[in-house]
Amino acid sequence: MLADSVSAPTAPTLADARATLERVWGHTDFRGLQSEVVGEILAGRDVLAVLPTGGGKSVCYQIPAMLRPGLGLVVSPLIALMTDQVEALKQQGVSAARLDSGVSMDDRSAIWRAARAGELDLLYVSPEGLAQPHLIDRLHDLPLSLIAIDEAHCVSQWGHDFRPDYRTLGRLAELFPGVPRIAVTATADARTREDIVRSLRLDGARVIVDSFARPNLQLSAIRKENASRARTDAAVIDLVRQRRGKSGVVYCGSRDGCERVAQALRDAGTNAIAYHAGMDARERDKRLERFLAEDGTVMVATIAFGMGVDKADVRFVIHADPPGSLEAYWQEIGRGGRDGEPAEGITLYGPSDIAWTLKRLDGRPMAEEVKAVQVRKARQLFAMLDGAICRPQAVRRYFGEADAQPCGVCDLCQDPPAMFDATVLAQKALAAVQRLGERFGKTRVLDHLTGRTRDVQPWEAGLSTWGIGKDTALHTWRDVIDHLMFEGLLVEDPNDNKPLVRLGDPEAVRAVYRNERVIEVRLTPARVAAPRERVRNGRNAALENMDADVRARFETLRNWRRERAAEQRVPPY
Ligand code: ADP
Ligand code: MG
Ligand code: ZN
Repeated sequence: MLADSVSAPTAPTLADARATLERVWGHTDFRGLQSEVVGEILAGRDVLAVLPTGGGKSVCYQIPAMLRPGLGLVVSPLIALMTDQVEALKQQGVSAARLDSGVSMDDRSAIWRAARAGELDLLYVSPEGLAQPHLIDRLHDLPLSLIAIDEAHCVSQWGHDFRPDYRTLGRLAELFPGVPRIAVTATADARTREDIVRSLRLDGARVIVDSFARPNLQLSAIRKENASRARTDAAVIDLVRQRRGKSGVVYCGSRDGCERVAQALRDAGTNAIAYHAGMDARERDKRLERFLAEDGTVMVATIAFGMGVDKADVRFVIHADPPGSLEAYWQEIGRGGRDGEPAEGITLYGPSDIAWTLKRLDGRPMAEEVKAVQVRKARQLFAMLDGAICRPQAVRRYFGEADAQPCGVCDLCQDPPAMFDATVLAQKALAAVQRLGERFGKTRVLDHLTGRTRDVQPWEAGLSTWGIGKDTALHTWRDVIDHLMFEGLLVEDPNDNKPLVRLGDPEAVRAVYRNERVIEVRLTPARVAAPRERVRNGRNAALENMDADVRARFETLRNWRRERAAEQRVPPY
């Protein structure tokens, strides 16, 4: 029956779809790859569409569902998302409904009646809802125009929002053969895309991936000087104060942090709202509504706040604590500037954050293989944050856009950091950790390298690595060791109170020993320069205070870097 309707002369065309977009939504034309996606679905084919956050993925399935005969079934991971979309559709005069635990028996009957009468264009359900056999039975009695799976990255354990219920959606292929299925998401690297196609059994589907470029976002990252919460809070409050009157989101890693920062912001005169999963759903909805309705409000939230939040004029997204992966990073900063106007993404990060991230992963019940991937993803994020490659370029390459160019506006493009080749220092540090038997913490490793060890024992003084780095300043060593941690070449066991420094991935460590991997470390002017000089002229002060050997290498590298400035570079992962 479906095949007939598709090949019938009255089959909807892209022109019909455009007319609907204009009539119902008031948008003059499709943008980006929307028309391509819509065209595929109108033709009755399966699609996986990866379009940017705010790119307009919803209309890609809503319009074909309206134009094709039958009911469009939409699977969505959150009740809040379903409610938003269904309410918006109803207001626009589109016949849509949702089935979730909050819907009364009477309303349910009315929904099914409308569906049977062919009066319903879109029905939103949760993946858990679809697990109920009677729901499937009822759907079987109806002609379906399509099945849409929103936020499809939830299907993949490699993604950052895994929902076990999504795993079961592959069976829709057998339950509703011949019904076109469309999966949409904003963030999925190549591996996640493969996983989505496999899990959802979208074997023959066209995979349509838009560019991940977000040219209106100005990204930056700020290294935390130490693990002090008070300092981080103060930095966040400063950043928000400089953006007074603008709407923004501040992401915190914990509920406590959320409440604390929100309170501190209110004390500083900002209209700030805390939002996290520790609140009941009603309270959360109330807060979300306030945020959406008010101007210049700052949402201080955990990752519980996010998916589908559609506030057009978010002018900044600040990470008080870094997210868990580059995907999560891109999705979260992507909540800024959805109206296409300039917005900022500012991420605070420090060595203690990576330890904390790893510790959190360690405590999660998941397969070792999955855990290993998550750990690697966290490291890739930190390598980007602490790296020197244009941020959007690094992320887009990670997503598979090999030809992504420098953005020109991120902190690293605007003000290329002073970097130096620390490969030899890295080799010394790795050797020291190895010789010390991976049995000591960071301070002791630093003391060992600089030969400052008090009460040095004969066994330690006898090691070939003792004092091997005495010609290099302590602060440089700190930067090197921190950076090796960001790159995962050294690891701290997060389960310890006084974490021991150990060697990371053996393959990577070997590559450094063999000079196959160059380690570039960013100079931290704030640490190097005397306070007054720092304010006046951070970069030059940093240079003057640099060790002679480091400085020579830095200058060679800087020249080389200048020559190659316009060339493309491959991220270190
Ligand atoms: P996402 O891809 O993040 O799911 P949405 O579907 O929520 O994005 O759409 C984000 C916003 O973009 C909505 O307000 C939507 O109406 C708008 N939009 C969608 N398509 C277009 C278009 N072709 N032109 C202009 N605005 C559009
Ligand atoms: Mg969406
Ligand atoms: Zn850039």
